[in-house]
Amino acid sequence: MAADSDAIGPAAQRYTAICARASTFLPIIDVGHTAGVAGATSARGATEYEFNLRLASKISDDLRAAGFARTVLLVTPEAPRAGLFKRAARANALHGDLFLSIHHDAVPDSMLQTWQFNGVAQHYNDSYPGHSIFVSTEHRNRADSLAFAHLLGIALKARGLAYTPHYTDAIMGSHRRVLLDPQAGVYRYNELVVLMQTQMPAALLEAGSIVNRDEELALATPERQALIGSAVVAAVDGFCTRPRTSSVPSSGRDVRLQSRFRPVRRDRQK
Ligand SMILES: [Zn+2]
Repeated sequence: MAADSDAIGPAAQRYTAICARASTFLPIIDVGHTAGVAGATSARGATEYEFNLRLASKISDDLRAAGFARTVLLVTPEAPRAGLFKRAARANALHGDLFLSIHHDAVPDSMLQTWQFNGVAQHYNDSYPGHSIFVSTEHRNRADSLAFAHLLGIALKARGLAYTPHYTDAIMGSHRRVLLDPQAGVYRYNELVVLMQTQMPAALLEAGSIVNRDEELALATPERQALIGSAVVAAVDGFCTRPRTSSVPSSGRDVRLQSRFRPVRRDRQK
């Protein structure tokens, strides 16, 4: 990877947060998966965890540089499923104001094709480039989760990045999702542990497809990471600045107790 100094230029101009409470606001940037259970494998054989750690670190650095000095980069060594609950528990213990889990996407195994890279058989799918954002509508603070996800989707769009629409396709089968926000590319994913168990507004970003051979190369560049970093900073700043809405769920039921005692069904290994 290029040294930090290589990234300094017009695209890496310092951004200063507008939000008056930026210095006390606590964003948590969660590195998806673990070093040992590393998620998807890219078209060239790299692990998703490598991509997640690199991008989440860049996002955290950019947030701190913008004035969000309390930003926490959450790295979890424990494997799923216990590790998924631990990352949510850690985020809750930190009393974070916002939780963003960073991932990179693949496709279901049945949609992969095989090619040779450096003499090794690898798997790819070039059909579905683009990022996507997920929230749980069962989250106790779904309105704010959706509001942040919307801001993030719009910030990515404003930087020329397009979300992938393929999660609504029938070909996705059990991986098919409801598109909640067609303008910003926000899908519903209610079963994810980190989106269900976190008490603060929460979203998950699939930053792009690493089984797509062109997009894998783009996602590995400092330029793309800086672009996504600036989008996250703009979205966090916009979220921090907006008037706070009530987190009381419209049902009036005690969702805190509900989520504590309700068994988690069909949770996914995110
Ligand atoms: Zn992942």
